[in-house]
Amino acid sequence: MKKTLITVLALLLGVSLFAQSAQERPRFPRFKVLAFYNPHVEEAHVQFAEEAVKYFKGLTIGDGFVFDVTTNMADMNDEKLKDYRMIMMLNDVPHAPEQRAAFQRYMENGGGWFGFHVSAYNDRHTDWPWFLDFLGGGVFYRNNWPSMPAKLVVDKSDHRVAKGLPSTFIAPENEWYQWKPSPRENKNIDVIVSLSPDNYPLGLKDIIPDGDLPVVWTNRNYRMVYVNMGHDSRAFTNSTQNYMFINCFRWIMECDPEGNPFLR
Ligand code: ZN
Repeated sequence: MKKTLITVLALLLGVSLFAQSAQERPRFPRFKVLAFYNPHVEEAHVQFAEEAVKYFKGLTIGDGFVFDVTTNMADMNDEKLKDYRMIMMLNDVPHAPEQRAAFQRYMENGGGWFGFHVSAYNDRHTDWPWFLDFLGGGVFYRNNWPSMPAKLVVDKSDHRVAKGLPSTFIAPENEWYQWKPSPRENKNIDVIVSLSPDNYPLGLKDIIPDGDLPVVWTNRNYRMVYVNMGHDSRAFTNSTQNYMFINCFRWIMECDPEGNPFLR
């Protein structure tokens, strides 16, 4: 009898401790995301950003997470970023030294980054070695024009981002960027999806004739995914591609060093 009473008391104590910790950490919204975009860049890149905001805002229905948006790159500072477990870069990169430093600190302290298209653009004028290393070392080399659909190949089918994807799919119109050297040559980089050589020569005005062209990749030293999609409003018109975007989004959050928010 005494033993039973102790067991019951222990159970009650356990339940109340559980209830207390559940109270301390509200379940919804599970986390906050901050998306940056620049409304004054190339028109197609602004169109993409506006579509992306609509798309990801749509995923917040039911208050599962908070999706905040800013067009002010000065928000890239420690004080602002501390509330967010993921930042999205829709069409720009930080330019000012203090913004770059804040971004680097954020990433080195376990922050999440989901970058699209021109958010990885860099050339000999960019002058940001840390960022080049973060991206896997690829400098912008060339692109196709006009933007076109392309056949993509899943290179790393065992990666969470590729879960459920077919081995190949046709992605909607995009301006595809090729990088030199290919990020695939970097040992820290996992290339998850790339452009199929079946596309070559790709383009009508500007042609990509050949070569490796990674499209989706991650740097294993950070909680980040880069996707090359992001040229105009057509980026969210394909269910397979949207499915992949959500895989990227979920994986970045699942890897949060503060805990997988979908499990609480
Ligand atoms: Zn573009």
